[in-house]
Amino acid sequence: MPVLVMKFGGTSVANLDRIRRAAKRVGVEVAKGYDVIVIVSAMSGKTNELVGWVNETSPLFDAREYDAVVSSGENVTAGLMALTLQEMDVPARSWQGWQVPLKTNSSHSQARIEEIPTDNINQKFGEGMRVAVVAGFQGISPEGRITTLGRGGSDTTAVAFAAAFDAERCDIYTDVDGVYTTDPRICETARKLDRIAFEEMLELASLGAKVLQTRSVELAMRYKVKLRVLSSFEEQSDEAGTLVCDEEDIMENNVVNGVAYSRDEAKLTLLSVADRPGIAATIFTALSDNGVNVDMIVQNISEDGRTDMTFSCPTDQVGRAEQALADIKGAGTLNFAELDVDAGVAKVSVVGIGMRSHTGVAAKMFQVLSQEGINIKIITTSEIKISVLVDRKYMELAVQALHEAFELDKAA
Ligand code: ADP
Ligand code: ASP
Ligand code: MG
Repeated sequence: MPVLVMKFGGTSVANLDRIRRAAKRVGVEVAKGYDVIVIVSAMSGKTNELVGWVNETSPLFDAREYDAVVSSGENVTAGLMALTLQEMDVPARSWQGWQVPLKTNSSHSQARIEEIPTDNINQKFGEGMRVAVVAGFQGISPEGRITTLGRGGSDTTAVAFAAAFDAERCDIYTDVDGVYTTDPRICETARKLDRIAFEEMLELASLGAKVLQTRSVELAMRYKVKLRVLSSFEEQSDEAGTLVCDEEDIMENNVVNGVAYSRDEAKLTLLSVADRPGIAATIFTALSDNGVNVDMIVQNISEDGRTDMTFSCPTDQVGRAEQALADIKGAGTLNFAELDVDAGVAKVSVVGIGMRSHTGVAAKMFQVLSQEGINIKIITTSEIKISVLVDRKYMELAVQALHEAFELDKAA
């Protein structure tokens, strides 16, 4: 029988009532003749609570134990979803990551999927089971420890299952009815897109649009998974939501197609470091060894052989960054006068494939921000995006102003 993957995010399984609604939707697909793999997230707010407990217990935690704790939210919803389906007379059972087994590497809290053997679940499908409910976000390392796939990782579980089982489609059910030109929660005029190109979705996701985890888009692109984002709160037709697809399958495009933001960024500046070969390598090796995900990097012009080095990272990694830099300073490997930390910044980005062939997007972006009196702290660009770091208090204003200036409320 054809296989369908249906993923339900946190708000879609937030309580028993919502789980029942989601299960009914699964029942509809089973009735159409699909064998269904359901991927569930933890109930909304649960993972944040678990992460909070870990941080309170151990600020520079052992990531293996972090994973043991934060993976647990999904176990609850997987079991409850299977029970709900059984109550509806749909033959279903739950699977935790290790039972599949969903094999990952050992990068705890940010693990990557290596393999999903299909035999166990297929055997059960062969015996009459119609729905495999799989706990999203979690897997097992070669050492036999529980791993997690990074925040939002259930999306990636879903796409990886769709690829492994050659599913007809991977439907991501969430609390908005598709992918929008920007987050509809902070911009009223955000417009739902019927289709979005993989590459744009990949940029938007990696720049903070959390509607899909970046890695899930990468996998869908690589394995040609038909990926759809839709609402679990509305009645759905087969055409509902947003289809993430190849660029060639989209007729019209604006130069800029989306605005993304990432709220919790921090800017750290090492004042007065020596300007000589090896210094950047020392700094960023220490940061990476301590699990800090550095994003933007700027090195200033040097004076008298010394320079300032600025980088950004997520706010929840500032403690690790400070520790890593203090360690190399203490060991005498690196000398700097001071570390300046600004934990109150956000990143705002515009994205569009059309930027490859159009000039003037950066100029327009900076003009719009200047008209709003918003100071830019760091700029980075790639072929199809421009990102700026600004004070967090201006983030929403910046998103709204850019959305309007690039006329994203209107279709191309
Ligand atoms: P789930 O719990 O279902 O995985 P998430 O909270 O992870 O849901 O992702 C859905 C949220 O993503 C929406 O509620 C919305 O606020 C946010 N979002 C950010 N950018 C976008 C965008 N461009 N389009 C749609 N939603 C977006
Ligand atoms: N529950 C996890 C999180 O909140 C994974 C997910 O929902 O995708 O990040
Ligand atoms: Mg999510």
